[in-house]
Amino acid sequence: MNTQKLKEDALHYHAKGRPGKIEVRPTKETSNQRDLSLAYSPGVAEPCLEIGRIPDTVYDYTTKGNLVAVITNGTAVLGLGDIGPEASKPVMEGKCLLFKIYADIDAFDIELDTKNIDEFVRTVRILQPTFGAINLEDIAAPACFEIEERLRKEMSIPVMHDDQHGTAICSAAALLNALDISGKDITTIKLVVNGAGAAAIACIDLYVALGVCKENITVFDKDGLLHSERVNLVPNQYKYVKDQLPLDWKLADALAGADVFLGLSVGNVVSKEMVKSMAADCIVFAMANPNPEISFEDAVEVRPDIIMATGRSDYPNQVNNVLGFPYIFRGALDVRATTINEAMKLAAVKALAGLAKKTVPEIVNMTYGETNLTFGRRYILPKPTDPRLLTTVAPAVAKAAMESGVARTSITDWQAYNHKLTS
Ligand code: NAP
Ligand code: MG
Repeated sequence: MNTQKLKEDALHYHAKGRPGKIEVRPTKETSNQRDLSLAYSPGVAEPCLEIGRIPDTVYDYTTKGNLVAVITNGTAVLGLGDIGPEASKPVMEGKCLLFKIYADIDAFDIELDTKNIDEFVRTVRILQPTFGAINLEDIAAPACFEIEERLRKEMSIPVMHDDQHGTAICSAAALLNALDISGKDITTIKLVVNGAGAAAIACIDLYVALGVCKENITVFDKDGLLHSERVNLVPNQYKYVKDQLPLDWKLADALAGADVFLGLSVGNVVSKEMVKSMAADCIVFAMANPNPEISFEDAVEVRPDIIMATGRSDYPNQVNNVLGFPYIFRGALDVRATTINEAMKLAAVKALAGLAKKTVPEIVNMTYGETNLTFGRRYILPKPTDPRLLTTVAPAVAKAAMESGVARTSITDWQAYNHKLTS
């Protein structure tokens, strides 16, 4: 589709009918006076009193247990940057739409007009009575690190910054499968990362949790190698400084012989020569959006043995956060988890990686105009419309929450749970 046509269609799509993309609908009958006297005064006093007596029954009598807040201040929106809270609203409404269509989670977008960390944290913290979980979205680094960390400590419902952890979970699943194909051991791979922002640091943290050795990781940002002699690093980046290398070590130097490249920076900063210099069966995740660090065509041209992923839907192996967040939150909500912890994230990674190895249903092949999607270099992650994502990832996350002691209710009949998910 040409750019002008896309622009017109997108504006029309958002403006037609009732403006925006989501609405609120009653879930109970409201057809007569009796219904209304139950829904509101005087009947509504009864659930109020019950909740007053037993606070946890808020999950039985209100929407809390299926309600997620998608919260931003509009400081790092898509590839658009700091466009402000109002301008970010279409993206946040879009995220709410994805929660609904993929996992039947009701989500409200909340755009906060502040860049002050204390104000942001306080505002979100006092929303706890309303929501079952909080999805932080498109908040610029480094503020996003402190905001998430503080809210995770101060709130007893799950809080997840999806740009950090959703990306980490989906790309980690891709990494496990790419390593499987290349026959490499995660504990010995050499990993080079370009970008040291919100997404990159969370990815590295999770890859380390999966077995990548810190000593084998080299990270660059706009100003070069992460190194202790630099004066402009934020606390989260010190974890990955590489002081045994010279301060002026370049991306090209690091990529020679590297097994894995992770790009979460900007487009077109990796050359064909750099990819050519990587180890056999190199893994290249060039995930800058909309333009990857190196184009799929260029990378594949110089390396027929490559396993490549990007953030784009028009090439194989799209790392798309929609593979993760709807189902991670679904699983967390369904056991009333108090948090989304490491065990739940790792469970999501393994569930996603495992699903890509299963026979692909015909409906998925048809949706993508494929005839035979099969686990391999060009299919290392499930496709976003795969209906099995819900019944694979959500139960895995719920189970991990229960086993790691953060679930406040348990699921015992998993077959019935799966049935409920799909009905
Ligand atoms: P971010 O927090 O702004 O981080 C960007 C990082 O890239 C910063 O460390 C920045 O360094 C660095 N950078 C900028 N220009 C660079 C250059 N020329 N060479 C090396 N590093 C450079 O943004 P983010 O949220 O992490 O996202 C980063 C990119 O990944 C964006 O393009 C985003 O669209 C993409 N992304 C894709 C997915 C996906 O595919 N699923 C998910 C998340 C993010 P300074 O701090 O020094 O400026
Ligand atoms: Mg985002």
